[in-house]
Amino acid sequence: MELSQRVQNLTPSQTLAITAKATELKAQGVDIIGLGAGEPDFNTPDEIIGKAFEAVKDGATKYTPAAGIPELKSAISEKMMRDHQLEYEPAEIFVASGAKHVLYNVFQALVDEGDEVIIPSPYWVSYTEQVKLADGTPVLIHTDESTSFKLTPELLKENITDNTKILMLNSPNNPTGMVYSKAELEAIAEVVLDNDLIVVADEIYEVLVYDTEHYSIASVSEEMKARTVVINGVSKSHAMTGWRIGYACGDKALIKGLTGLASQSTSNPASPSQWAAVAAYGMDEGFLTEFNETFKDRRDHAYALLEEIPHTTCIKPDGAFYLFPNFKACTVKMGYETVDDFVKDLIEEAHVAVVPGSAFGLDDNIRISYSTSKEMMTEAMTRMKNFVTERL
Ligand code: PLP
Repeated sequence: MELSQRVQNLTPSQTLAITAKATELKAQGVDIIGLGAGEPDFNTPDEIIGKAFEAVKDGATKYTPAAGIPELKSAISEKMMRDHQLEYEPAEIFVASGAKHVLYNVFQALVDEGDEVIIPSPYWVSYTEQVKLADGTPVLIHTDESTSFKLTPELLKENITDNTKILMLNSPNNPTGMVYSKAELEAIAEVVLDNDLIVVADEIYEVLVYDTEHYSIASVSEEMKARTVVINGVSKSHAMTGWRIGYACGDKALIKGLTGLASQSTSNPASPSQWAAVAAYGMDEGFLTEFNETFKDRRDHAYALLEEIPHTTCIKPDGAFYLFPNFKACTVKMGYETVDDFVKDLIEEAHVAVVPGSAFGLDDNIRISYSTSKEMMTEAMTRMKNFVTERL
């Protein structure tokens, strides 16, 4: 069967390829440790499950408004006010089946053929593919350790053309774990406003910030808020990846467009999941503090173990649940031509699965997810260290 050009042009996800390899080895009885996960390893809190169950028994089993139930929109609106002092009314909020789905719809609603979307690299894999699916042109801006993998106003300015429409910003960042400071976002906002760009701000890892604060670029000014689409959801913050609830907050005309799109494509996100998200935002904030502390402790633990692996360097991340160390020097000393080859052998011989940086646009690094127990992390890092030192 002849597939559309659109689908033929898609780049398959390397993250999924690694997961498939790890699953295959596991099925053969190999004791693989997976550090590729992009999700919290806990189950959703009981309180959320209980409330969702009650809602289903009370009849939350039917269609809802396409852009989400009013109760969830209110909960999101309150959350945005509480956490960012940003006011969004229901007509400025769109809920869909996960942040990924929201982003897909946002690009469909904003991008036409020829429009350029600036994406700082390394980047989360779906951005480029979703822009292409909207007939847009992803423009990657290379960043590295010298700017802590962050986009600078100068780099942004250099890459703006007459066709630039959107800047994609992801903070806290997947895969680097970097978090943009208020000052950094203010400087970027100035360039954005000077050039009439729109910012799509993916803040899905918002609650996972450690020695610093998360700041939304929409908070810079009213003018900036008007040009920002904030993307968030409950997947990472409340261990709810499988429930599929994400949302966008932004300009009314955009939300109307997104609602129209949803009404002709997916309709509403699953009704029980929407009630689960209402319960998540109604939970005692103590849950988030504990969640955050667990991940901070895991980050420190994983980072200390990583430091013992020779010839590697890593900027200590202050957000999300990833380390993004540079393994180039180490793998060259081991005799590898590419970090990708090292990653393949690491899975097959040391039985530790990580994701090569090439999956995110940077060949010299690897992404290690520390969304796993400290015991598992100790075992994985010991295997990795032994694998490296035995071959140096
Ligand atoms: N944005 C980033 C940066 C992510 O890492 C992910 C998930 O891995 C998503 C969005 C998607 O989130 P959701 O599971 O809510 O679709």
